[in-house]
Amino acid sequence: MAEMRNIVILTGAGISAESGLATFRAEDGLWENHPVAEVATPEGFARDPDLVQRFYDARRAAGLAAKPNAAHEALGRLDREWPRDAGHELLIVTQNIDDLHERGGASRVLHMHGEALSAWCTSCDARHRWEGTLRDQPPCSACGTASLRPDIVWFGEMPYRMDEIFQSLASADLFVSIGTSGAVYPAAGFVQQAAAQGARTLELNLEPSAGSRMFDETRLGRASELVPQWVAEVLEHQQR
Ligand code: NAD
Repeated sequence: MAEMRNIVILTGAGISAESGLATFRAEDGLWENHPVAEVATPEGFARDPDLVQRFYDARRAAGLAAKPNAAHEALGRLDREWPRDAGHELLIVTQNIDDLHERGGASRVLHMHGEALSAWCTSCDARHRWEGTLRDQPPCSACGTASLRPDIVWFGEMPYRMDEIFQSLASADLFVSIGTSGAVYPAAGFVQQAAAQGARTLELNLEPSAGSRMFDETRLGRASELVPQWVAEVLEHQQR
């Protein structure tokens, strides 16, 4: 293993699958039996806000009830033990809207597709931590209007904090993709971005993803097994 200072980790729905949260089924475009156009687009929300609020109310409740699994916990360990001094960097970019990375002990987590536990006011732009429901149209505590929507990036909207992500990819020595199908852009393009700037690339997934051939190495298996093994390797190498 070459010397490593900067690691960027991209995670997707597959890392939360063993915590009981269903993945998005790219092959038939269904998420919890709903077509994504229905529940994950601004047009779907405009057409049927009640259905979309109920869908994310259910995702929020399921996320709160779920527990981090061994893969989240291993990344939490890596985050805690990765040296922060001497210019070492670690960033976990997640496409997931659950908070299992944080509850698994990771602190450097960037939610590029938003968070189920956040509500966004489309009138005054305030964001609120939200554990309850939104289908009953509660007022925004900042402006009083009933304009709260899930703070989720839908298809056709701009993912959050892309500048920071591209900056981290540019200085990464290692890019690791975990439990993501490689079907949703721009995240699916991060492997090429990182490789073009000289990073080694590793994929940990149950099955080869759409972009598997672009990775230097692919390990197939369950995240709860592969991720703790990989984290142990990285930390052992770092201590030598
Ligand atoms: P995806 O559902 O398209 O792909 C999941 C990938 O994980 C697949 O390649 C699958 O083979 C793999 N996988 C399944 N079980 C696994 C396991 N136990 N270990 C390792 N890998 C496993 O997910 P995506 O690429 O993240 O894209 C889905 C989109 O839907 C994202 O934008 C995300 O915001 C959203 N989503 C989020 C959640 C969540 O927050 N938990 C859940 C479903 C969908």
